[in-house]
Amino acid sequence: MSIRRLPETLVNRIAAGEVVERPASALKELVENALDAGASAVAITLRSGGLDGIAVSDDGHGIAREEMPLALERHATSKLPDEAIEQVRTLGFRGEALPSIGSVSRLTLVSRQSGADGWRLVCDNGAISTFEPAAMAPGTRVEVDGLFDRVPARRKFLRSPRSEYAACLDMVRRLAMARSDVAFVLEHDGRRVLSLPAGQDREDRVAQLIDRDLAENHVVVSLEREGVALSGVASLPTFHRGSADHQYLFVNGRPVRDRLLVGAVRGAYADFIARDRHPVLALFLSVPAEEVDVNVHPAKTEVRFRDPAFMRGMIVSGLRRALDSAGMRVANRAEA
Ligand code: ADP
Ligand code: MG
Repeated sequence: MSIRRLPETLVNRIAAGEVVERPASALKELVENALDAGASAVAITLRSGGLDGIAVSDDGHGIAREEMPLALERHATSKLPDEAIEQVRTLGFRGEALPSIGSVSRLTLVSRQSGADGWRLVCDNGAISTFEPAAMAPGTRVEVDGLFDRVPARRKFLRSPRSEYAACLDMVRRLAMARSDVAFVLEHDGRRVLSLPAGQDREDRVAQLIDRDLAENHVVVSLEREGVALSGVASLPTFHRGSADHQYLFVNGRPVRDRLLVGAVRGAYADFIARDRHPVLALFLSVPAEEVDVNVHPAKTEVRFRDPAFMRGMIVSGLRRALDSAGMRVANRAEA
């Protein structure tokens, strides 16, 4: 056996296993690209929970015609300043999403920069098949059809349209909470599921996405310490749920999943709420770039804090203070 380089299509397909596990992860990448492009409105259409089709349209800055094929090349990105991964301000930076998705679906990329003509590029399971002029308003539209149709091993692991749809909806919720300045529309199987106007207050956006009654039943969280800022919305202890599914954490505008949150929330509410009940909340941490590593996993939903204990302390203190000012007595003040 001799050593040889894997063909690019195969490399992309292997990477696709990490970047796009299921429709919701493909959707996340497409919406993040729209936000990175400065979109003020993002429209999402799903068919069968995204299994049959995902389409994301934005009114962002678009892609120049000559760069469209490059957008589908691996590790090609317009976002990373040379050799400074710590400096990333955008949601994407790996240049992996489009080539990965394009290697395991039929991907159509239509884009137009203002003052230029629109172009359509089709990538069919790794091979560019069409590149032609297309009429459209400035912005970008990406359609993904038949995700994993040619990868039966992966398709087998996907769940029902219903649960894939639930995962997509959860993803859109998270992204929409992080950007209350941007308008979002979500349609599923011809039905409009979400319609969020641009320029909403963050509190209104969160209440609209979690539960409208939250608007009357929350405290505002706000704390700043050593260059780290925590803000957000948390429910009063009288407003709770049977699961922790509606506890959202964002770090530098990025929705993340971190065990840290569950423990900190439990600690902060321990005196007011039964152990099997959970508050709903959305917390936003703004952290200096050197305090956090987002480059842990290709899907970028995990972060690593340099000082997790400090972040946990921030969340506990921030929540306790907010509850305190709302008239809740904190019996056991272990605040640092
Ligand atoms: P990354 O986001 O990590 O750079 P992607 O594979 O997601 O990698 O996208 C590759 C490139 O394609 C981006 O760097 C960007 O220049 C361009 N691009 C993708 N989607 C859009 C979009 N919706 N609007 C404008 N440019 C886009
Ligand atoms: Mg991207």
